[in-house]
Amino acid sequence: MEEAQSQTPHVLMMPSPGMGHLIPLIEFAKRLVLLHRFTVTFAVPSGDAPSKAQISVLNSLPSAIDHIFLPPAPLNDLPSNTKAETIIVLAVSRSLPSLRDLFKSIVAQRNLVALVVDQFGTVAFDVAKEFSVSPYIYFPCAATTLSLILHMPKLDESVTGEYRDLTEPIRLPGCTPIPGKELPDPFLDRENDSYKFFLDTMKRFVLAEGIFLNSFLELEPSAINALQLSGSGNPPIYPVGPLVKVDSSGSEEGVECLNWLDEQPHGSVLFVSFGSGGTLSSVQLNELALGLEMSGQKFIWVVRSPSDKEASASFFSVHSQDDPLRYLPEGFVERNRGRGLMVPSWAPQAQILKHGSTGGFLSHCGWNSTLESLVSGVPLIAWPLYAEQRVNAIILTEEIKAALRPKMNEESGIIEKEEIAKVVKCLFEGEEGKKVRAKMEELRVAGERAIGDGGSSSRTLLEVVQKWRSSNVSG
Ligand code: UDP
Repeated sequence: MEEAQSQTPHVLMMPSPGMGHLIPLIEFAKRLVLLHRFTVTFAVPSGDAPSKAQISVLNSLPSAIDHIFLPPAPLNDLPSNTKAETIIVLAVSRSLPSLRDLFKSIVAQRNLVALVVDQFGTVAFDVAKEFSVSPYIYFPCAATTLSLILHMPKLDESVTGEYRDLTEPIRLPGCTPIPGKELPDPFLDRENDSYKFFLDTMKRFVLAEGIFLNSFLELEPSAINALQLSGSGNPPIYPVGPLVKVDSSGSEEGVECLNWLDEQPHGSVLFVSFGSGGTLSSVQLNELALGLEMSGQKFIWVVRSPSDKEASASFFSVHSQDDPLRYLPEGFVERNRGRGLMVPSWAPQAQILKHGSTGGFLSHCGWNSTLESLVSGVPLIAWPLYAEQRVNAIILTEEIKAALRPKMNEESGIIEKEEIAKVVKCLFEGEEGKKVRAKMEELRVAGERAIGDGGSSSRTLLEVVQKWRSSNVSG
């Protein structure tokens, strides 16, 4: 029999601003709704009016997932050089009064069992507590990154000076050692306000009733086991991944990419993309173009205008302001016609990776991109740019061994065309390439099992679902 709406377990989810934070939570919400018949409301905070992309993705969800855009929290008092992390945390904290109003109305009508926020939303825990609702975190990155964050308060006390100057790497239980200079961006400048905002937000992780992790036991066994160790002082850690979106919006460029792939031989195409916000310098963009050409490999490249030419290139805007193809080397587009497809700004990544013609992914190693590649069994070339991508690149190359990493010329800070061509060739034809390809295929199968019936991640989610259902008795 159908549960009455007031009895159905309901979860309130609050993603922090930015599509990159909304999409992972949506995938989690879909699983709760489709597999466990929960209902979900998204409370979406922002510093501005909702974007078209947010509206269209939220409108396309199953009817058991509702959404409300919280009134924009003005941020125009912040200096123009304010870092992304500070903006995100402030947009959330300034939205708390409207979140409180929403709680009042939901608690009166529904059986609200949990608030789930992402890594920047822990400031909302107090509001959940006011209504006796359990707060949870959905952490959309690797277990090693979670370990870094949970250790951040201790690191902050024990390390003097900048982490980037440490001569020894940071060693955390069960994790591959991470050199200080490779830590996530907000760690790298302790004098900056964004470090303090980040630290305050991360200190509250221990207050969560549980932390969902978009990873799976078979992918990061030792880091996850260490996080779950009793006596670690961590909240319960629930690996529920790999959860990735399976399709992207059907734009015209998207259709063109997929049609082009249909005509290419199986496993012959390298997909090149740096996530929703990654940009290169002009010199690096030029070098990448020449390196791809030199490799002789077929490729699809999502091209963005270089960062030194476009001040607005940022986390919040995925589209270049002008035509990015004009920054490519003279004659490049013509010379590579038929062999390379250049797509300005945005491509349907998940579908491209799923396509049988795609045989490699040169990626910035954002965690969503990493998992999308994994579920498609596509090996990576790791080219990290910012945020926690350097950590991901280390895990992927040194621990998981599913990626190759081109070497940077330390003097110029550039990855040169010869190196790019060498690594691309190695991925498709070399011995090392064979190994990482086989590893990715193994992980694809393991990932499918983890979220399949009775798999490790499915069992973990079921454990929480049962806990939430039992807290439902009074509802
Ligand atoms: N994405 C896409 N098309 C693009 C670039 C990115 O569909 O041209 C999607 C990609 O599939 C992934 C997300 O945007 O789901 C990027 O997330 P990730 O964590 O990899 O990196 P971020 O953008 O947060 O740096």
